[in-house]
Amino acid sequence: MTFNELQLVEPILQALNEEGYTNPTQIQEKAIPIVLEGTDLLGCAQTGTGKTAAFAIPIIQMLSQQQREKGIKALIITPTRELAIQIGESFASYGRNLKIKHTVIFGGVTQSSQVNAIRNGVDVLIATPGRLLDLIGQGFIKLNQLQFFVLDEADRMLDMGFVNDVKKIIKIIPEKRQSLFFSATMPPTIMQLASSILKDPERVEVTPVSSTAEIISQEVYFVDKKNKPALLVDILQDTTIKAALVFTRTKHGADRVVRFLEKQKIKAASIHGNKSQNARQKALANFKTGEIRVLVATDIAARGIDIEELAFVVNYELPNIPETYVHRIGRTGRAGNSGKAISFCDYEEKAYLKDIEKLIQLKINVNDAHFYPMEVFEVLKVEKPPRNESRKPQSDKTKTNPKAKKKNFNRNKTSKKQV
Ligand code: AMP
Repeated sequence: MTFNELQLVEPILQALNEEGYTNPTQIQEKAIPIVLEGTDLLGCAQTGTGKTAAFAIPIIQMLSQQQREKGIKALIITPTRELAIQIGESFASYGRNLKIKHTVIFGGVTQSSQVNAIRNGVDVLIATPGRLLDLIGQGFIKLNQLQFFVLDEADRMLDMGFVNDVKKIIKIIPEKRQSLFFSATMPPTIMQLASSILKDPERVEVTPVSSTAEIISQEVYFVDKKNKPALLVDILQDTTIKAALVFTRTKHGADRVVRFLEKQKIKAASIHGNKSQNARQKALANFKTGEIRVLVATDIAARGIDIEELAFVVNYELPNIPETYVHRIGRTGRAGNSGKAISFCDYEEKAYLKDIEKLIQLKINVNDAHFYPMEVFEVLKVEKPPRNESRKPQSDKTKTNPKAKKKNFNRNKTSKKQV
């Protein structure tokens, strides 16, 4: 199918052409006609499927065909600031040949420029829930003209504890509206929320969360916790890896990985909730331009990161929620590009791996061609080695891993300077 067949107006077709999109993605193909018809939509789709355009394009088109009146006519709420910014960029890009005004609001930064933008008049408002309610409370935002309501990444919204904020927003907006609801997963709590928002929705489902994109190659490395930093550095010796997104479970874990990589002269930065908005955006921008090679992120901060052609994702720590694995590796292999996702699994994480494999219905290939095969086969309560055990730094990694010596790894041995 082509975009022409979706009955889109010429200025949008032109924008899509300029954007380099040739064909609609599956979710776009299915959702755009439904939205243009004025029907509510329940979309089961994860990031990377092109879902932003699936709602942004028809909303832009319908707004462009109306008489111009003042007031916010479309509201998109989304859980993270990064995602909000990216949705804003999508509206700017698909609506570049039309006079639709949009703005993005989120917390963690001063409100004055956001308030000014709203005062100047916007048709589309993209917001995170907290700042939206805050500005509504202060009287800066009125939603009585609203026609379109989009709830994006609903499952993540719930995970992040925004459910009450979402419910408050739904009470404020007009009942007569068209609502679009997107979520990567559809557990009962999400279905309940969806049914409180949507009226007679059409359901559209693409790449269900239990099936990881086939174009992503997946591997697992069994490795002890203490050896994960060194294994990561070893893997990054491969200079064909131009950029890597590394996931940790905690903010401190992310910072520790960055410190370790920097010591090894690998340019890295972390993004997580303790970082200011400016620091996060700077890290993301530097990653996109290639100034830093490794971006280390926690799940929440990484939500919504949209980096085209990201080929390499590392699960430095496996997530305890199996769906999170699917979200993480969905960062790669986007829009038809191939990608690789590797996971480090220590003894304590084996149960997580089992849950993940059950969900994705796939046994992940084990890569054992590395210098750090697992040696710890019990749950360690104390991380420090006992006093009588050697605390000497292991200058020669192969000493502890005699197995490793025997293998012919045939790896890309590059000098650190090249990294
Ligand atoms: P999303 O799932 O909305 O986060 O989109 C994922 C990525 O796919 C973004 O980088 C979009 O720019 C890109 N994209 C969306 N629609 C298309 C399309 N029809 N053709 C090519 N790329 C697309």
